[in-house]
Amino acid sequence: MHSQFQVATNAAPARYRGRFAPSPTGPLHAGSLLAALGSWLFARRAGGEWLVRMEDLDPPREVPGMAGRQLEDLRRFGLEPDGPVLFQSTRGPRYAEALASLVASGDAFACLCTRGDLEATGGIHHACVPEPSGRQPAWRLRLPSRELVIDDRVRGRFAENLAASSGDVILRRADGPWAYQLAVVVDDADQGITEVVRGADLLDSTPRQAWLQQRLGLATPAYGHLPVLRQPDGRKLSKSLASVPVDAGDPLPALERAWMALGQAPGVFSGAASTGQALRLALADFGPERIPARDHVLPAD
Ligand code: GLU
Repeated sequence: MHSQFQVATNAAPARYRGRFAPSPTGPLHAGSLLAALGSWLFARRAGGEWLVRMEDLDPPREVPGMAGRQLEDLRRFGLEPDGPVLFQSTRGPRYAEALASLVASGDAFACLCTRGDLEATGGIHHACVPEPSGRQPAWRLRLPSRELVIDDRVRGRFAENLAASSGDVILRRADGPWAYQLAVVVDDADQGITEVVRGADLLDSTPRQAWLQQRLGLATPAYGHLPVLRQPDGRKLSKSLASVPVDAGDPLPALERAWMALGQAPGVFSGAASTGQALRLALADFGPERIPARDHVLPAD
């Protein structure tokens, strides 16, 4: 025991590695820029690396050309990844391997229940219906009735009963596509991500992802969940507002709005003549403890 303890404490801590993982469903918008900037600031502040992963798993929802456009927009905001961009569409064999291991351990199962079959439980799957009507199986993760706790660096302690909150989630859809929950866990691990910083709309997915990590024998990274943007009237950004592209041709105002939504000090960008300069000033002044543990209401203008 003692020598194991020594090994663990003497091992060099893994170098910080963060990531931004957009889905190429449209151009970069205010919410995605916030996640990009926030995750970049955390990574740079720790002297670590920042990667970009394209979550292109759902072709019907994707818009051709958007992955390239998002990457170009990020560059115009001065946010350049430290390595090649990983495209989830290339990762099928790796996800299949993870699914096979979950099937072998009894954590994943084939399921013929359709959405219609699950109407009585609001689409949530707790057990297969006696006579499911699907023809092709989907693959689901069996989630036990167990509380899992995440210590989020922005939101604090977040606890959730795995089975009650989501039921048995899909890992692979009946029509073929891999589901976000499986792909994100496999890729965060394979890319060596030490801290996941993203929008708080994904906070309630986190215990589920931590459970999957445990079942796959993967390390659980640290997590930090950033404010979700709300309209001036307090409602969640409507689809139309949320999808308004940020203007990468005039990057400083949008960058500053994202900075303010992170609860950071006003005025830091004044005098910045370029995104490079603005980001340097931001980095020097960044205080993670100032990030609000709540949604951010956009000012009316
Ligand atoms: N692709 C997800 C999104 O665009 C983000 C996933 C994540 O950061 O874990 O909302």
